[in-house]
This record gives sequence, C-alpha cells and structure tokens, in this order.
Amino acid sequence: MIITYEHHGATVSVQEENKGKHREHCLCFQGCSRFKPGTPDNCQIAQAVYHNCVEFNIVTPVWECPQYTCGSAVPPARPS
Ligand code: SF4
Repeated sequence: MIITYEHHGATVSVQEENKGKHREHCLCFQGCSRFKPGTPDNCQIAQAVYHNCVEFNIVTPVWECPQYTCGSAVPPARPS
C-alpha cells in the first residue's frame, strides 16, 4: 500500500512497508569504512546520492556498490 507523509517539509509517497527502512537497507550504513557523513572526507558516491536525495526530496538506499569496504561494526549516525 502506498502512503503519503511529510518528510523534511515535503509530502512524499512511499510503500508503507519501506517507510523508515533506509538505513536498514542501505549498504553505506552496513559498516562501510568510506561512509563518513557530515565530514569533508565522506565517500564521493554517498555524498552525491545524498545531495540528489536532498534536491529532489527522495530516499535512495545504496543496494549495490563497487567500492564498499568493510570497516566499523557500528554504522555512524547521519547528522540530521
Ligand atoms: S563506498 Fe559505497 S557503500 Fe561505501 S559509503 Fe560509498 S556509496 Fe556507500
């Protein structure tokens, strides 16, 4: 079922079962050592994905990535 809700000031549509599951599904949050959100040395791919999400009010988990590098066991928190 598709639902709508307010997300960062925009009304967005989402499959209800996927709402709020971004971090659970996104490879960046699975301990990738290149993922350093909010810092100048953040992964270039993750940064570009993030900017695209902000520009278009979308949520885009990274499902596959050629540069994933297993690093920290605890994914870093993304600044709000
Ligand atoms: S290398 Fe891939 S998985 Fe790792 S932070 Fe960048 S985009 Fe995400």
